[in-house]
Amino acid sequence: MSFADLGLEPKLLDAIAAAGYETPTPIQKAAIPPALENRDVLGIAQTGTGKTASFTLPMIQRLGRGRAKARMPRSLVLAPTRELAAQVAENFEKYGANHKLSMALLIGGVSFGDQDAKLTRGVDVLVATPGRLLDHFERGRLLLTGIEVMVVDEADRMLDMGFIPDIERIFKLTPMTRQTLFFSATMPPEIQRITDQFLHNPVRVEVDKPATAADTITQRIVRMPIKDDRTKRAALRELLTHKDVRNGIIFCNRKSTVDVIAKSLQKHGFNARPIHGDLAQAFRTETLNKFRSGEVQFLVASDVAARGLDIPNVSHIFNYDAPIHADDYVHRIGRTGRAGKKGAAMMLVTPADAKFYAAILKTTGADAIEELDFSAFFEEHAAGGGRPRRSNRDKPEDSRPRRQPRKVEERKPEPAKVEASNEAPNVAADRDPPAPRRRRASANTSPKQRESADPVIGMGDHVPDFITRAVAG
Ligand code: AMP
Repeated sequence: MSFADLGLEPKLLDAIAAAGYETPTPIQKAAIPPALENRDVLGIAQTGTGKTASFTLPMIQRLGRGRAKARMPRSLVLAPTRELAAQVAENFEKYGANHKLSMALLIGGVSFGDQDAKLTRGVDVLVATPGRLLDHFERGRLLLTGIEVMVVDEADRMLDMGFIPDIERIFKLTPMTRQTLFFSATMPPEIQRITDQFLHNPVRVEVDKPATAADTITQRIVRMPIKDDRTKRAALRELLTHKDVRNGIIFCNRKSTVDVIAKSLQKHGFNARPIHGDLAQAFRTETLNKFRSGEVQFLVASDVAARGLDIPNVSHIFNYDAPIHADDYVHRIGRTGRAGKKGAAMMLVTPADAKFYAAILKTTGADAIEELDFSAFFEEHAAGGGRPRRSNRDKPEDSRPRRQPRKVEERKPEPAKVEASNEAPNVAADRDPPAPRRRRASANTSPKQRESADPVIGMGDHVPDFITRAVAG
């Protein structure tokens, strides 16, 4: 089946071809035809399945007819995080290259004035995070009564972040006659309730993750003898210098740890930058772009900042901290091994992580994770040497860390590395003022925004069967 078979018009087919896509993904095959018939769609799919195009393509076709009125956007896409919203906007730009659609992006860190000016002129597509959208609405800067199509993307993430009351309110501000395209990776009862209330006779489309993690991702751990931060950082550096590591994302459970690890790595000459929710949007965007282009080799990230990001070609995922929820582990390692490419995931497991690690093993299956032998490294490190003994190199290939020819300590920081170090932001100074809506939401439920204050708050223990199957292979 080709894109043309889905009922898409030539202008869109040209844009799809220019983007280099030949065959629609399963979610696109299933969601685009009913969406083009103006049906409501309930898509159960996660990032990496091509779901963004499954709603942007039919929207562009529909919005190609008609014109936008001042302050009355014709369509609305709600995304849980700024990065996801920005990614959706990029999709509209890519696929809408041959259409003259206007778009505004209402997310934190993007100039209020510029976006407001766009709204005044009238936009076909409004992409927003819920808090920012309601800020603009409450200031009387926009009306939602002209919405023809509304999309909720990553609804289960919205639930984690405490956005559901905002979503309900936004639904009620839009006309009943709207078309709704609703996407969620999982369907917890709260999400089911929202879809029952606001979707009209939706076509339900459910897809599995395209390639299973077990097929493409090698998962390994290093068991730490003690929970000691210096030893952990040394072990991380040891993993990073493995010869197969081209680039990677290093996950930490707290924003403060992200900062510490990024700074420590920079000090040791690694090309690393931090990304988390308290950093200024401009810095986050620049970091992501530099990581995508290869200018930055390591991204040190929190779960929320990295969630759903489409970063192709990540060779390695490093779990500096074992995630507290097994489903976070699945999301983290899903950043590598995408689109059938090979990927590797490494995790440091301290004695204090035993409970979390047991939950992860239950999800992945015990056979999926291999334990690296770092005993020589720890002996040496405890003795003050900090480097693995030579005998470590005699171990079988797969069970020992391999390193680049030059030792990290011997590397001189290259200019780019020094620059990265100098650019590390003053976190307190760069903290975004929280939007009023978000603050209210965080007082309500269990928002992910509080990750640094309380790392135990997460997305709950709900691990959908199909993810479990995918990881266990
Ligand atoms: P998404 O699930 O929307 O985040 O998309 C995941 C990745 O798949 C993105 O890099 C898309 O650009 C890419 N993609 C989307 N549709 C297709 C397609 N039909 N063929 C190949 N890649 C695609």
